[in-house]
Amino acid sequence: MRKATPWILAMVIIAALAVPAFAKAKKIFVTIGTGGVTGVYYPVGGAISKMINAKRKEYGIRSSVESTGGSVYNINAVVTGDLEFGIAQSDRQYQAWHGKADWEGEPQKKLRSVFSLHPEIVTLVATEESGIQALSDLKGKRVNIGNPGSGHRGNALDIFTTIGLDPEKDVHAEALKAAEAPKMVQDGRIDAFFYTVGHPNGAIQEATSGKRKVRFVPITGVDALIEKYPYYAKAVIPVEDGLYPMATNKKNVESVGVVTTFVTSEDVDADVVYTIVKEVFSQIEEFRKLHPALAHLTKENMRNGLTAPLHDGAKRYYIESGLISNP
Ligand code: GLU
Repeated sequence: MRKATPWILAMVIIAALAVPAFAKAKKIFVTIGTGGVTGVYYPVGGAISKMINAKRKEYGIRSSVESTGGSVYNINAVVTGDLEFGIAQSDRQYQAWHGKADWEGEPQKKLRSVFSLHPEIVTLVATEESGIQALSDLKGKRVNIGNPGSGHRGNALDIFTTIGLDPEKDVHAEALKAAEAPKMVQDGRIDAFFYTVGHPNGAIQEATSGKRKVRFVPITGVDALIEKYPYYAKAVIPVEDGLYPMATNKKNVESVGVVTTFVTSEDVDADVVYTIVKEVFSQIEEFRKLHPALAHLTKENMRNGLTAPLHDGAKRYYIESGLISNP
């Protein structure tokens, strides 16, 4: 074999140095657990993947998204190692870390937070013909509270408890996936559905733009909920922005909200987490443009609502970029 000339050797060395150490050995595949395809998690997971995949030669990471049942499913899949990343409501992250609600007595100590994303609002839509104008009108009605595995199912149950309705006796509760509920409303097979989601989104567009007239029902009279739990805050559905022109409401609708978060497990490689955080944060202007729900994100507000400890890879980026001080 001919001896390699020095300049070829130099080029090989330079090329090798340009690739992060963790990516040299093999291509790393990561999957992000999202939600229904007509929600916001799915396109937002897609936006994160798109940014990472654009640099796949440099990073050696190939990211893909999976449509799932939502927050609870994603947290469970992340801690068992079935998925590397998941998108989850801040209330669900809190409950999983502290061993509450779906994780009663079983705190999920492998769970790690990475960053937070857009605000999510507990959204209740109902057909006009159902006569549901306020939460108390839900009594006796057919209401989708969401599939087990979704984040919003817990919000619907919290609201029922707060207003004194028993979801097993006082309403006909359905457990449909969020992507199925709009058609069921339009077909008149359910009266209303809950969906905790960023705005605008395809599911609510679908629910409000059919033949059957549909309205948003305000979530009011639930101050006890905000006082009791640290993760709920007052929020409005910005109907006045013209997001859902065919809904019968013309004014913004009062509700409560949480924050969307991006989570992982302590077992996921710190270099991979670091690379993803760095990519999203250093291109935040681009990231904001990838979905209207992301428009108001800042490097500062992207750390709201995180309960589980920061993943080491995320922490490294935040310290390095001066967003948090080195403890
Ligand atoms: N908040 C919903 C859930 O946790 C998902 C919302 C979305 O997909 O945008 O199940």
